[in-house]
Amino acid sequence: MNYLKRSLLLTPDKDPMGTAIADYFHYGRTAGKLRVYSSQFEEDEIPVKQLFRSFNEMPLLEQIALQQATGRILDVGAGSGCHALALQEMGKEVCAIDISPLSVEVMKQRGVRNARQINLFDETFMENFDTILMLMNGSGIVGKLENLPVFFKRMKQLLRPGGKIWMDSSDLCYLFEEEDGSFLVDLAADYYGELDYQMQYRKVKGDSFDWLYVDFQTLSLYASQCGFETKLIQQGNHYDYLACLYPCCYVNNK
Ligand code: SAH
Repeated sequence: MNYLKRSLLLTPDKDPMGTAIADYFHYGRTAGKLRVYSSQFEEDEIPVKQLFRSFNEMPLLEQIALQQATGRILDVGAGSGCHALALQEMGKEVCAIDISPLSVEVMKQRGVRNARQINLFDETFMENFDTILMLMNGSGIVGKLENLPVFFKRMKQLLRPGGKIWMDSSDLCYLFEEEDGSFLVDLAADYYGELDYQMQYRKVKGDSFDWLYVDFQTLSLYASQCGFETKLIQQGNHYDYLACLYPCCYVNNK
């Protein structure tokens, strides 16, 4: 499955994360684990409670992005609505989109005023924003490096003049660290941040999908080729970072 397929929206039977979010919202706990499988890694688990984090529980990188967000804000892949709710509490105007029907329903019930089931890449969605938020490894949705140009083209359609994207991601190079501290990356292989994931919650198993982690340098390189400036705003504790991106050539009619 490719999240870039414009028309793609999930259905409840293929929406493990949405099912886990709905369970947690309704019962205050989850009936099972939200499991993550990948051909590159051992089985892992996402603590569903984390998807309901409050502003104070968020990592600094996310707090900065929320504080910097201005004007009309688009929260992409909004999940349970944790960022959208924090923004509303700050008095900011936010539109939260997600392909998960169950997450969108939970967002509405939690009080997100403008929550909609929309795929970011659906070009029939043509509104304009001053801030676009891509948080919790926001580059993930892009899937693969080769999709970055399509992503930036889409961002140009959605951004108002002067608008900015705030994205967090991680450099997975640490997975290739040798005992002497050097990094052994196979340059002939696919980019090391390109993963495939599949999630399962109870009996609900989603299709597998591409998920991209991108280091800051590679992101900046692609961004500049697509006419975007990239600023490193803050580094996290473990190879993670927050970047701010914006088109470099807003026409200046002086
Ligand atoms: N931002 C939330 C959730 C992150 S998980 C948080 O920080 O807690 C990523 C979310 O992106 C999932 O809810 C998934 O359904 C959604 N998503 C994936 N591809 C998408 C796309 N193309 N358009 C909109 N949402 C998408």
